[in-house]
Amino acid sequence: MHAPDPNISQSAPKIRQLDEAAVNRIAAGEVVERPASAVKELIENSIDAGASRIDVTVAEGGKRLIRVEDNGCGIPAEDLQLALSRHATSKIDGSDLLNIHTFGFRGEALPSLGAVGRLKINSRVSGADTYALEVQGGHLGTLQPTSGQQGTVVELRDLFFATPARLKFLRTDRAEMQAVTDVVKRLAMAEPYVRFTLTEATDKPRQVLSFLAETGDPMDALAGRLRAVLGREFSENALAIDAEREGLHLSGYAALPTYSRGSAVQQYLFVNGRPVRDKLLIGALRAAYSDFLSRDRHPAAVLFLDCDPQLVDVNVHPAKSEVRFRDPGVARGLIVSGLRHALAEAGHRASTTVSGETLGAFTAPAEGPRIYQMDRPAAHHWGQQPGLAEGTAPFASASARVEELIEDIPTDFPLGAARAQLHENYVVAQTSDGMVIVDQHAAHERLVYERLKRQLAANGIASQALLVPQIVELGNDAARLLEMAEELAELGFVIELFGSGAVAVHETPAILGQIDAEGVIRDLLDDLHALGDSGTLRARIDAILSRVACHGSVRSGRRMSADEMNALLREMEATPHSGQCNHGRPTYVELKLKDIERLFGRT
Ligand code: ADP
Ligand code: MG
Repeated sequence: MHAPDPNISQSAPKIRQLDEAAVNRIAAGEVVERPASAVKELIENSIDAGASRIDVTVAEGGKRLIRVEDNGCGIPAEDLQLALSRHATSKIDGSDLLNIHTFGFRGEALPSLGAVGRLKINSRVSGADTYALEVQGGHLGTLQPTSGQQGTVVELRDLFFATPARLKFLRTDRAEMQAVTDVVKRLAMAEPYVRFTLTEATDKPRQVLSFLAETGDPMDALAGRLRAVLGREFSENALAIDAEREGLHLSGYAALPTYSRGSAVQQYLFVNGRPVRDKLLIGALRAAYSDFLSRDRHPAAVLFLDCDPQLVDVNVHPAKSEVRFRDPGVARGLIVSGLRHALAEAGHRASTTVSGETLGAFTAPAEGPRIYQMDRPAAHHWGQQPGLAEGTAPFASASARVEELIEDIPTDFPLGAARAQLHENYVVAQTSDGMVIVDQHAAHERLVYERLKRQLAANGIASQALLVPQIVELGNDAARLLEMAEELAELGFVIELFGSGAVAVHETPAILGQIDAEGVIRDLLDDLHALGDSGTLRARIDAILSRVACHGSVRSGRRMSADEMNALLREMEATPHSGQCNHGRPTYVELKLKDIERLFGRT
């Protein structure tokens, strides 16, 4: 038993009805967490009103002023008061909460904002006069005639002045402005046909965002909007997604694994057009890329999941950022399979950022554009350099051994014909419109990994018996490894307990050929340790596969014949996902002739 709380009176407490201002303040706590949530509610109202132009102005991160102006349908004067009272909405009649096609429906935003700030609405419907209505800290003013354009202007000043406790939790103006910017971007992605601007009101007003209205079919309009919001690099590396399953439709754009980010900043998910931050969906996005990205890299994607509103409940949270699917498994499966399919089709395509980075590395440092123009010595001067034969360019160095391979391989394969191997690791190939440089170790590792996955799916990984079993002393780890003996056997390793604290390795994956079994086993144990106890079976198998692939692949430092190099290129073309290695790094980069010409200032 707890001691009685001295703050709670022991006589029966009296029940009272809270007044409307108090109710609204409490509700506001859920709907309006910070300025960005107010901006979200107001923009959503403008979208619901059919606006094609929405201009947002913010001062001091939204703490001092938020102003949202639209050219939507407006609010009739006689409805203005109603719009500001709780649970009044024009959007649903309450009979079917599972059939919702608008952003708003709870009728809470305006009264909540009016309860915690100074709210003023100017509005005009077509063919009528403009009226204004104010509400401050929950106290409603009277309807005033005023002037203005068709549409609605909502001004919210001094947010949380009525609830100072909440004010204290706000972050710096900059951080709040950042959150506002993010909200505008998200909604702008959801509505490509609407023009958006975001302006920061200071002594010198600064336009932070400006997105022109897009046109064309929905996928084109979205592509244009994403280019404006996320930048050219995202667009150039994005794959169009279009997949369907059991009444759920997935569309949008997802970036190649080589265009990954260090955090989840470029993941935007929408359910029936509504921006959401839903754990289930974000988890599915990660899962789709799990094969291509190391754990510290994050995919970039903008995905829209659309379905009959009956199949998803958006009324889980007042801010509506979480959703609940009737069948979460279908939603997850659709995202995973839709993305994997698109990534497989993209096959060996590596991201353009890679060649962009290559160009960056080649071009002049940041001081500004510089043009290198060599004063070319006349050809006969070369012959006068000591130690060089007449007519030989003084470029060949011992470390960059260039093997000339003038063979009759057509260059119209996507990855072209191998021309040279540099530094015993880079294969240079000529394509019909440029050149490709392949990291032979990374590429081969990926090919072996994909081959192993296919073997495993078919009938287990082929193993080969060692002539003499190899004994590996492992101490306490021996038991840990033996727990996995069955899985390991399927993956090509047959091991057995040998005395105490040692295992005998009888068979190893055939793909590894003659190997140092002890080295592989020790590496495997390290990988399993790194996974810890949380590693799922799937994660353990992947770790083992990628370790085997690493051991089984051509090391850098091995000289390859022309046939071997060309065979590598052809296999890369035929293998899905070969554009990046098991760690999400590119396996090759491509330079188009026009890029090369740019490097030389020829264009
Ligand atoms: P909800 O959006 O859930 O209906 P709100 O409190 O956000 O609730 O808005 C209440 C009502 O005010 C809306 O249903 C709509 O009729 C009207 N309204 C709000 N903002 C606008 C706007 N920008 N243009 C036209 N009508 C609006
Ligand atoms: Mg609303």
